[in-house]
Amino acid sequence: MTKLMAQTQPHFLILTFPTQGHINPAFQFAKRLTRLGVKVTFATTVSAFNKINKVGKIPECFSFAVFSDGYDDGFKRGIDDTATFLTQFKERGTQSLKETILSNAENGTPVTCLVYTLMLPWAATVAREGNVPSALLWIQPASVLRVYYYYFNGYDKLIGEDCGEPSWSIELPGLPRLKSHDLPSFCQPSNPYNFALPLFKEQLDMLELEEKPMIFVNTFDALEEEALKEIDGKLKMVAVGPLIPSAFLDGKDPSDKSFGGDLFAAPKDYVGWMDTKPEGSIVYISFGSIIMLSKKQKEAMACGLLASRRPFLWVIRDQDGEEKEEEEEEISCMKELKELGLIVPWCSQLEVLSHPSLGCFVTHCGWNSSLESIACGVPVVAFPHWTDQSTNAKLIEDVWGTGVRVSANEDGVVEGEEISRCVEKVMGRHEKGEKMRKNAKKWKDLAREVTKEGGSSYMNLKTFVEEIDRSSI
Ligand code: UDP
Repeated sequence: MTKLMAQTQPHFLILTFPTQGHINPAFQFAKRLTRLGVKVTFATTVSAFNKINKVGKIPECFSFAVFSDGYDDGFKRGIDDTATFLTQFKERGTQSLKETILSNAENGTPVTCLVYTLMLPWAATVAREGNVPSALLWIQPASVLRVYYYYFNGYDKLIGEDCGEPSWSIELPGLPRLKSHDLPSFCQPSNPYNFALPLFKEQLDMLELEEKPMIFVNTFDALEEEALKEIDGKLKMVAVGPLIPSAFLDGKDPSDKSFGGDLFAAPKDYVGWMDTKPEGSIVYISFGSIIMLSKKQKEAMACGLLASRRPFLWVIRDQDGEEKEEEEEEISCMKELKELGLIVPWCSQLEVLSHPSLGCFVTHCGWNSSLESIACGVPVVAFPHWTDQSTNAKLIEDVWGTGVRVSANEDGVVEGEEISRCVEKVMGRHEKGEKMRKNAKKWKDLAREVTKEGGSSYMNLKTFVEEIDRSSI
């Protein structure tokens, strides 16, 4: 590694995919770094930057290197072609990273580490060519990284067409026994997203090219003790999570109460409504920033909520570019629904999860949502759809004991009865429900400890920054 010119402050350049699930943990990671005295530049696209700027207030503690990926009005899911987008993102992102690294070197603020999130293996190439140390910020659990590692190291041959059989399961080092529906969807033979696996493979291959590959994981030591162990003496993971604003964790900085990177606007009235409800009574339903429920599934969800007779807050995002289905109209029992709960297009999820009136989170198990439920001590109904969500659901139900997973019918729809049954299992005043709530509280307490000064995640990051600082002098 070429020694960089001595400077007073380490400087990290962070690159993420322009989606909410990448931006949130990366913003929080950036904030943590600035608290440790690091200068941070955040590389993102024109469309993400404009949306963040429009919805809220861009964090002032770091600067931005904004580049056009050719989709300045945003990528329109269902309309724009994913492969073309990925190619353009790579080409223009590569160019922008190179320029940012070069201009900072010329201005006396050389980049001392390039950090990138998932599906951006080319960022590691830019770093290597520019003689800049780099690190992957893995925004899924360590357990999922392990699954991918073993999958690409021979185990893919064991996951054949027969893996759908009820008796089929696989044992991978450091992980609970996984059935077919627990595997990340991209590793299942039925995976229709052929762009994903090659990118994950390239990502791991790039790491193996490094002498000392560096992987930060948005998790914490106590949560994934086994999964975080070094893999085959090759991949060492460092837990730095939960990457969640301070106000919801150690409370050290009460002003840090949002990620600061929302791409969607939230209405203002829902917290006032939540204030009027009894403690632990509300069901919160959200499927993150990407998934859209089918009309059939929305109807089934509505039936389940009506049957539960509990107040609810349901996030149904506006269609962001998807071609609208013909019958995409209001849910049929909307009038009855509105008497029981609120439907909003977006909310501050952490504000909702930490509200005393919240009782349960019906979630798609995106990793941020999963970790946020853990950090806020909220038990969940796990309703996974794709990518790592199925593995996250397995961990939630069987390892951490903080939730219950839904079952779909033959058409892949989770029926209303099943939804209300699962909500009852989580919220009911019975032994199983009590156990889940107790487990959720236990993980919440642990999540708070690790991010405090001296806690494991705090120390892991601090040690890394000090090492980078030393090696750049
Ligand atoms: N989120 C939010 N408000 C909402 C829905 C989601 O603030 O109404 C945030 C949530 O807190 C999380 C992120 O959006 O940090 C979603 O990330 P996740 O990994 O859970 O799912 P994805 O959107 O990537 O599928």
